[in-house]
Amino acid sequence: MNVDEVKKSLVDACHRVYARGFVAGYEGNLSARMSAEKILITPARMCKGDVTAGDLVTVERGKTRPKGAGRPTAELEMHLMVYDERSDIQAVVHAHPPIATGFAIAGIPIPEKALPEVIVALGSIPLVPYALPGSAELADEIRKYVHKADAFLLANHGVLTVGRTIEEAYYCMETVEQVAKSVLAARIVGSPVELAKAQIEALKKLMGE
Ligand SMILES: [Zn+2]
Repeated sequence: MNVDEVKKSLVDACHRVYARGFVAGYEGNLSARMSAEKILITPARMCKGDVTAGDLVTVERGKTRPKGAGRPTAELEMHLMVYDERSDIQAVVHAHPPIATGFAIAGIPIPEKALPEVIVALGSIPLVPYALPGSAELADEIRKYVHKADAFLLANHGVLTVGRTIEEAYYCMETVEQVAKSVLAARIVGSPVELAKAQIEALKKLMGE
């Protein structure tokens, strides 16, 4: 993809996270890797529903970061950490989808063995302990889990997803929220039942794992 295509794809994902109610106001931040040294990321203090290609900020390693209007999101550090740790990842989406964030606030992990989507598509959704949003400490907490999964619940904060494409990172966010909604519904009507080991093995075999 050329730069314009990456920008278009990132802007589309921004509009989708806002349209789906995964963020409100200025919440959330999205990025894509352009090269080893360069990423594109959403600016601070802008509603994701209003982001255009011209608003995206380029951050280059070792160079002074823009300040004032048009500066990158304050949550830049965790994006940079993901790109440092995961050479397979090209995009990062961070949002506060309300149901999944509810689990994160309650400190309750989303069950990993209740739905085929989690078993096959996500594998696991680690619950990362709280650290100040935007801090190097939060990036370091996520670093402990970043090789184990593509979706992370951030305690008392929200959700972080990563992908080999911008679409993949975005769809991963949709899946996390959808699963969280279903588990919440299961808890309201009764108790979630996890799949048995043999059922999980059969599922993985069917999906060619
Ligand atoms: Zn946040």
